Amino acid sequence: MTARRQFIQWIPVVGLAAMTARHAHAQAKLDEKDPQAVALGYVHDAGKADKAKYKNYAAGQNCGNCQLYQGKDAEWGGCPLFQGKQVAKAGWCSAYAKKT
Ligand code: SF4
Repeated sequence: MTARRQFIQWIPVVGLAAMTARHAHAQAKLDEKDPQAVALGYVHDAGKADKAKYKNYAAGQNCGNCQLYQGKDAEWGGCPLFQGKQVAKAGWCSAYAKKT
């Protein structure tokens, strides 16, 4: 096998590794102490939302039934308000918008 052929065989492997690394970075879970999370009152468990501070909270609201949740049925998914992070399906923040 020539060196050129060996090199060509490694291209997809290196590309896949780079994509996997980028994907893993994009899927980091949001920290509740993240300044943006604190500013929006985000919690991983909707039941722990600060109801005294956020009067718009109502029982049953969570990221999983929010218009902005991008995780479909997954336990963690993206939210455009927290770029590059994942929010919990069971979570909640004050920007909640009921999925229609
Ligand atoms: Fe969850 Fe919706 Fe807030 Fe995003 S905007 S963190 S999906 S409640």
